[in-house]
Amino acid sequence: MKPALYAISLNFLRHVRMGFPGGCWEWTGSKLPGGYGQIHIWGHGMKAHRVAWMLKHDPILPVGGGQRGPIGQIVIHTCDNPGCVNPRHLRLANQSENALDRERKGRGSRVGLQKAMAYMIERARLSPEQVREIRVLRTRGMTSSTVGRRFGISQELARLIGLRLRYAWVSD
Ligand SMILES: [Zn+2]
Repeated sequence: MKPALYAISLNFLRHVRMGFPGGCWEWTGSKLPGGYGQIHIWGHGMKAHRVAWMLKHDPILPVGGGQRGPIGQIVIHTCDNPGCVNPRHLRLANQSENALDRERKGRGSRVGLQKAMAYMIERARLSPEQVREIRVLRTRGMTSSTVGRRFGISQELARLIGLRLRYAWVSD
């Protein structure tokens, strides 16, 4: 794990009361009015469950933040406990749930912030050199699952990097 990501993880874990692996892990830090945990990372306020998902899986771009990639961009709780940050209780909403949720909440001003966070987590996870290497390997025909294993990232992320739908800020 890269130092920047490690630092985010440590800071994050300080505010988590972990229970059984399958139970809810309550956020003990500050909370938003809806009961969602909130964490400040490098000055940016983020919803804790979104950060939990990103630390466990891949960076996600915000809703309305460019609409890149095929995956939904809202993280929802399967346990209906907004203060829970157990990654096992979190999943990405699909596109239709995504659209519904957007309609309900209206377009947020948090898009810029979340985009910045996605960028920071991307930057913490892979260096620009690694991203360029992944692009080259994908262009040469290495499968996304092989590339993913080599770099310790998911197959999906490797595929999206090859298509320049993630880490688009890294120049060739
Ligand atoms: Zn839970």
